[in-house]
Amino acid sequence: MAQDINKFEDFKLNKQLLNAIEEQGYEHPTPIQQKAIPLIQAGHDLLGIAQTGTGKTAAFTLPLLYKLRYAQGSSPRAIILTPTRELAIQIEDEVNKLSTYTDLRTVALYGGKGPKSQKEAVEAGCDLIVATPGRLIDIYKTGALLMKEIKTLVIDEADKMMDMGFMPKIRNVLEVIPVKRQNLLFSATMPDKVVKLSEEFLEWPERVEVTPQATAAETVEQLLYEVPNLKTKINLLEHLLQDKESWTRVIVFTKTRETANNVYKYLSRKLHDDELRVIHANKGQNTRTNAMDNFKEGNIRVLVATDVASRGIDVAEVSHVVNFDIPLIHEDYVHRIGRTGRAEHTGVAISFANEAELFHVKHIEKLIRQPIPRGRIPDEVKIEKTDFAEKQLIAREIDLIKRRENPNFKGAFHEKKRKKDPKAQSHWDARSNKGKRKSGNKGKRRR
Ligand code: AMP
Repeated sequence: MAQDINKFEDFKLNKQLLNAIEEQGYEHPTPIQQKAIPLIQAGHDLLGIAQTGTGKTAAFTLPLLYKLRYAQGSSPRAIILTPTRELAIQIEDEVNKLSTYTDLRTVALYGGKGPKSQKEAVEAGCDLIVATPGRLIDIYKTGALLMKEIKTLVIDEADKMMDMGFMPKIRNVLEVIPVKRQNLLFSATMPDKVVKLSEEFLEWPERVEVTPQATAAETVEQLLYEVPNLKTKINLLEHLLQDKESWTRVIVFTKTRETANNVYKYLSRKLHDDELRVIHANKGQNTRTNAMDNFKEGNIRVLVATDVASRGIDVAEVSHVVNFDIPLIHEDYVHRIGRTGRAEHTGVAISFANEAELFHVKHIEKLIRQPIPRGRIPDEVKIEKTDFAEKQLIAREIDLIKRRENPNFKGAFHEKKRKKDPKAQSHWDARSNKGKRKSGNKGKRRR
């Protein structure tokens, strides 16, 4: 079954693509990728129902890049249509990252700036176009763009396209591209208009859907701590783990291998050696299996893991799941917390989120259709000051998210980050200054 593919190597992809995937740090395909990639590669038309955050862009981009293979001729062979300029830029960005080891040429066409340079880019020759419908038609009308080689058409965020009244423009596009082609349609929701579009546009489509899995979220007690930085997260984790009576079998999830290793290193100074293991993709299969078996049998209390471990492991009676950081793939939150509360055991899932991660929390709450209750950091936990590098990192991430969310956001990297939530800041600051030496806090602000 397609769902069983849990490694990118098992798809029909070449080395160039696999290298790029690895470079992106994608350790395993997400559910939409597991389901959609084999069907697209088998040549089907596809209706994909998936929200942003599920990895849907790579789900259509990877098979597309494999199909295009290498630069050829001067006319594009595939088009990805998107409703907004921001999404076009985002998709172009992902396409560029995933095609970095190929010679494929991608051009993005969208409004907001003059068409001249885009027209020239098309004329210079390209293999793939990412475009908003209006600008695509504008450039086509100049005669710079030949459509006769188009063999694949992707429509992304179809529901948004319909909301924005793009149907006539899409019809224009359909009129000028070859009839014989593969069509992929992605949408987060399926209102009537999108059903109609799919009927008109897709031929005998396969349908794949990644539904928000609300069920796991319902049986698990969830709690979220707003934690300003990494060091404080470690302090809080250490504090929580002191309760050995109820924290009997714990998985700590981290986003990256590096954080997994750091958390492990830190905890190993505090906990007994035989209480703790770490697993991630860089560990050999034997080490991983070994650690898992020991954890299942109850020989070790705390397992630090990246998301590789979060799927497919069936450990009953995990008492606590800790999301040391919030997963970028929002569905992973559901997978992660699904490790606890299994088989009628109610479990507890605790998440730590810094200011940037709170944006992702908002999306996760939408996905699980419920708010995650907030907890107050216990007084015994030392709130550390956020160091300059981490502050920059968080500010950058917030900028990126805001840019994605709001087309008109110009980037406020230099904006005072805390303006938005003075209360939280003063709380943290007050806590982090408590009992601190007097000097050293007046360090000059770099701009
Ligand atoms: P999307 O749903 O396409 O907007 O993707 C959401 C985010 O997930 C993007 O930042 C992607 O770079 C990232 N992503 C896509 N596929 C994977 C994967 N297999 N593993 C980890 N991250 C991924």
